[in-house]
Amino acid sequence: MPRPRTRRTPRRSPGTGSLATDAPDTFTCRDHRLVGPAVTYRETPNHGGPITPRYLVFHYTAGHSAKDSCDWLCNPVAQASAHLVVGRDGTITQLAPFNIKTWHAGTSHWEGLTGLNEYAIGIEMDNAGRLTRTGDRLTAWFGETYPASQAVQAKHKLDQEPAWWHTYTQKQIETALKLAFLLVKEYGLTDVLGHEDIAPERKRDPGPAFPLESIRSRALGRKGEQDERCRVTADSLNIRKGPGAEYDLAAPALRKGTLLLILEKGARWTKVEVDGQGDLEGWVSNKYIEPVATHPS
Ligand SMILES: [Zn+2]
Repeated sequence: MPRPRTRRTPRRSPGTGSLATDAPDTFTCRDHRLVGPAVTYRETPNHGGPITPRYLVFHYTAGHSAKDSCDWLCNPVAQASAHLVVGRDGTITQLAPFNIKTWHAGTSHWEGLTGLNEYAIGIEMDNAGRLTRTGDRLTAWFGETYPASQAVQAKHKLDQEPAWWHTYTQKQIETALKLAFLLVKEYGLTDVLGHEDIAPERKRDPGPAFPLESIRSRALGRKGEQDERCRVTADSLNIRKGPGAEYDLAAPALRKGTLLLILEKGARWTKVEVDGQGDLEGWVSNKYIEPVATHPS
């Protein structure tokens, strides 16, 4: 029997999630600094005074490399910074202690507050951002081109039309999830947001290639433990509007490795939501998906 389920559980009040079994073990937080083998510390001069963080805000760098982004965010000319930069290999550079204000949010607002730098830890994910497609080439705003295997076509939740976006690596997403778990617990953060949420008039990062909703709900314990996920094992997998090859395509084919949230399991077809893209649902053949662990390892 197919097992229908409700995806959107109501928001629970902050701090009620059980996080004990999900504590990350790769790094810890000591004296407002991350400690772990994948972490280096490099202090930026671009910072303000003390803050008490309430939120975590994810960004993409729209840059060429993590090193370039760290260089820029440590350059006084930039007048910009963040607490952490996460490279494509999952390594982390911390640019300021978490209780010191960095300059990542700009003009922003959330829950009646303005100027979220005062309230938020900022994490920059090394990612080229929105890409322009010309034939088989996908080009970033700074001129670098990327293979189609590193791009995904998706509609941003704030936009009407789909666009191309640079994908995040699995390592980055795992690191982002672990960081969210750790920082929510350490600081009692009440929400995990994207720059696009707090500055929707002008920002689109971290964008639809980033599984923000999944990280948010798991880190805050709003849903998660019972969620089942799977991964695309075929190079290219059709996602359809119904459980059968006779149904129309629901979206462009999914690439190998795409994470899917299982909504309803059938004998031959499974209804899924594309992880991080709440409005993209459809059916995929069971032959080309494999289960993945729900908890961060
Ligand atoms: Zn941003």
